[in-house]
Amino acid sequence: MNGTVTNWAGNITYAAKELHRPGSLTALRALVADTDRIRVLGSGHSFNEIAEPGAEGVLLSLADLPPEVDVDTAARTVRVGGGVRYAELARRVHGHGLALPNMASLPHISVAGSVATGTHGSGVLNGPLSTPVREVELVTADGSTVALGRGEERFGGAVTSLGALGVVTALTLDLEPAFEVEQHVFTELPLEGLDSGTFETVMATAYSVSLFTDWRAPGFRQVWLKRRTDQPLPAFPWAAPATEKMHPVPGMPAVNCTEQFGVPGPWHERLPHFRAEFLPSSGAELQSEYLMPREHAVGMLHALDAIRETIAPVLRICEVRTVAADDQWLSPSHGRDTVAAHFTWVEDTRAVLPVVRRVEAALAPFEARPHWGKVFTVPAAGLRGLYPRLGDFAALARELDPEGTFANAFVRDVLAAPRA
Ligand SMILES: Cc1cc2nc3c(=O)[nH]c(=O)nc-3n(C[C@H](O)[C@H](O)[C@H](O)COP(=O)(O)OP(=O)(O)OC[C@H]3O[C@@H](n4cnc5c(N)ncnc54)[C@H](O)[C@@H]3O)c2cc1C
Repeated sequence: MNGTVTNWAGNITYAAKELHRPGSLTALRALVADTDRIRVLGSGHSFNEIAEPGAEGVLLSLADLPPEVDVDTAARTVRVGGGVRYAELARRVHGHGLALPNMASLPHISVAGSVATGTHGSGVLNGPLSTPVREVELVTADGSTVALGRGEERFGGAVTSLGALGVVTALTLDLEPAFEVEQHVFTELPLEGLDSGTFETVMATAYSVSLFTDWRAPGFRQVWLKRRTDQPLPAFPWAAPATEKMHPVPGMPAVNCTEQFGVPGPWHERLPHFRAEFLPSSGAELQSEYLMPREHAVGMLHALDAIRETIAPVLRICEVRTVAADDQWLSPSHGRDTVAAHFTWVEDTRAVLPVVRRVEAALAPFEARPHWGKVFTVPAAGLRGLYPRLGDFAALARELDPEGTFANAFVRDVLAAPRA
């Protein structure tokens, strides 16, 4: 490659021998058919080697393909190209008076890359971002196209696929009528007294709720409520309203964040925490996240509180969210209503990894599934026990990609296939 290619965080430098950016679907098909080892690089916002094809492999970027966003207002669906990011998709969908049900903390990420890793926002009734996907179009290793739609048996493996089945060239998503959201920030929610019932009530107060802590003390520094204006806003007696606009990461400017203080606005300008035209999060960071059955929420919080003196020195911020169960085989919220504990770490891998291991040991009793796109050390053998449909996914990968063109070290580890 001419120059180095890194992920957004800069902690991964891809070893791939070439980076290709085809300008047409025809060129993409020819390239794939002609290549032994290939991985798609989305917007590069993952923090591990999930997109790495290896030194003999090729990285494929879809950034030069026409950015297709075809909205069908009658059917309330959108067909979106494999390289398109949420910011662009949301703007176009909203222009038709329609909406996606939820978004992640940032709109900068590609749709195909996000749903491939099980990316999610928050909300007790909101599944991950893969939930509205109704069809996936894949270019498989021989350059042909396969479409897998909701209702087909194989669809369970098709969306949250870790990039292991082929190149996702388009996705079709269900839409709903556009809605408005207000964002309210509260401060200082103590951990003491937060029992399971209260946790459930707090997290169900609004359409999407996030709790933020730096683990320097038990409890949460900030609570972000995102209320749909067509739903009621119950009282929030557990914490005090913020008196100034806030950024969840200490020391970062609030101007980077979406509008607060209850100012109503379009769904796509309130559901993410970070504005599309600004730096999301803190920039200099690593991230990890673990997803657990929601009934473990309070036990999990106390387990983290017990090691907060280990966590706090390398932590920028920890965010607790909820995700509704979904049925993608490799989704970290597969089959279970979920509580997610996210960690934005300092950008020092050597200092962070031992703490990641401590966190994983503390969360193991809660059947914690790591986010596929973030830093984790859970060995493949440990992951396999957490995903009851992993065998079905491995069979689907063998069927669609018999030569392992799209398998990399990360995927082979997870699926326990012998290394080439
Ligand atoms: C600042 C920041 C905030 C974040 N916030 C959240 C959050 O709120 N919630 C959350 O769940 N996660 C969050 N993440 C993680 C992020 O959403 C995931 O890492 C996601 O996968 C990023 O999408 P991407 O396009 O950058 O994927 P990449 O990292 O580029 O790729 C991820 C995987 O998808 C595959 N892939 C990408 N495009 C295609 C395609 N067209 N066809 C086939 N395979 C493809 C790649 O091969 C790879 O395996 C955040 C990350 C950052 C940096």
